[in-house]
Amino acid sequence: MDCIFCRIAAGEVPAEKVYEDDRVVAFRDINPQAPVHVLLIPRTHVESVARLEDPGLAAHLLQKAAEVARSLDLEKKGYRLVINHGPLAGQSVFHLHIHILGGRPLSWPPG
Ligand code: AMP
Repeated sequence: MDCIFCRIAAGEVPAEKVYEDDRVVAFRDINPQAPVHVLLIPRTHVESVARLEDPGLAAHLLQKAAEVARSLDLEKKGYRLVINHGPLAGQSVFHLHIHILGGRPLSWPPG
């Protein structure tokens, strides 16, 4: 299996990392949709949120998403966390990732 996000987590593909620990990695999106656009991924390969079966990892991801957002100075003005699953949502990389978006007004409902 050749997964680009597994390779980023392993350090085999360069990425602008903003946080990492033994379970997760956060790095800047290559095609940012907001002034701050970071992706947070588990190191282990999980195809999508629909395949996330480890409640400990789920909690860690959510907690770290908020922590990374705070470290990027997004907490006061606000930010959005997005997880796309499947074709209608436009999931294009099949390794679970949380988009952390901020730095501009984010319209609602999302497109
Ligand atoms: P999604 O459409 O939710 O699957 O999001 C995939 C995201 O991964 C997109 O925002 C892409 O710009 C981003 N992306 C794809 N390849 C890379 C990469 N090598 N480094 C950083 N971000 C990437």
